[in-house]
Amino acid sequence: MSDYHKYFLQMKDDTVKQINPFTGTEVWTVPGRASKPISNAVPETAKKIEKKKKEDYCNFCEVNYFNTPPEKERLVIIGNKYISIEKLAASKLNLTTAQFRRIPNLFEIVTLDYWKKNYGYTLDKECLKHKTEYLTEKKGYEHIIHMIDMKLKLSGKNPSEISEKEKLEMADAFFGGGHELIVGKRHYIKDAEYDTQLCSSGELTSDEHFQYLKFTIKGMVDIYKRNRFARYISIFQNWLRQGGASFDHLHKQLVAIDEWSVSIEREIELVRRNPNIYNDLAVNLAIHFNLIVAENDYAIVFADIGHRFPTIAIHSKSKKVFPYELDDKELRGFSDIVHSIHAALTSQIATNEEWYYTPKDSMDVMPWHILIKLRVNMPAGFEGGTKIYINPMNPFDLRDKVIDRLYKLRNEKKIAKINIGEECKTKPNCLKYYLKYYKI
Ligand SMILES: [Zn+2]
Repeated sequence: MSDYHKYFLQMKDDTVKQINPFTGTEVWTVPGRASKPISNAVPETAKKIEKKKKEDYCNFCEVNYFNTPPEKERLVIIGNKYISIEKLAASKLNLTTAQFRRIPNLFEIVTLDYWKKNYGYTLDKECLKHKTEYLTEKKGYEHIIHMIDMKLKLSGKNPSEISEKEKLEMADAFFGGGHELIVGKRHYIKDAEYDTQLCSSGELTSDEHFQYLKFTIKGMVDIYKRNRFARYISIFQNWLRQGGASFDHLHKQLVAIDEWSVSIEREIELVRRNPNIYNDLAVNLAIHFNLIVAENDYAIVFADIGHRFPTIAIHSKSKKVFPYELDDKELRGFSDIVHSIHAALTSQIATNEEWYYTPKDSMDVMPWHILIKLRVNMPAGFEGGTKIYINPMNPFDLRDKVIDRLYKLRNEKKIAKINIGEECKTKPNCLKYYLKYYKI
């Protein structure tokens, strides 16, 4: 028996015991919990929505540009090109329609105060200039006060008890904070009739999805540039309320932190001991147990083991380890795979998309990888007491369900051409990040 079996053991009754090689999390899938295939059909419980010329279903919708803090950047389509517009003045917010916007999060997880008080962080010249110029316009000034008042009210405070001077100081977070959102254009898909027809990552075209990833990475680079104390930028996407999202409107979050995070530190520790671990104990192990879902020249996907929630793992094959180093062709290839998985999972399954990549100050490197977790179950008492997690879907079920959907979507030309299931070349050691490790 290969030593892989200490991580993955199929028992006679079809119970699958798994230990995640990177986290040590023990997970069991038990037989008899098979669920239906994944479908994007409108469920009977769906409610009709009121059609709007311009969407106004939430604060991230097009009509409500003034209900989010001042924008840092937007992507618009001119002709057939995506053009970036940075730091739009309030008076110009409604002159164009943003395909994607980068805006500060009204409620930061790591606040500007944290950086100011703990590190002596100050807004750089460009951020200060943006703030001054934004406030010069009457419309801009009103927008800022409106947003600060909204923030105060939502935190249970009375805006009239706070001076204007203090409010303007609080607005620093809008111009130099380190928690940003990338917001998509649409709330519902075009011609949607029901409230379940939300515009998820998978409902974008593969080209739109590539622009979404590229724009997110551009935001990441900008946050790093503004805050030299940021050692890592956590990037994630919560989809639907069960996935922790406060709005059912597509968005990613970028949060600057002053450490690598517990999970990255643990992974770096492992990669120090075995530089090839992402081949050995991720991709090669997945090949060994026949868990590969899809592949192209730039990324490989498998049903992952040892997670509390059913999880799909996507690894970049590139020699380049920082997401911002990938050229357009590589990023497009990687994005095509991520997009396909989201499309396969449909807009109706709550998910978390989590990014993992090499911190900028690490000499040890890992491949850029993304986990997409399906929030379909709720760990409960058994899990709390035993630290053995019952995951409702065994990795083979997850693999098969996603593969079925991918074939269908590829036939319908809704995703890019990728190899699916048995078409995958499944070469061991296909991740090339370690070449950088050995400086080859
Ligand atoms: Zn919306």
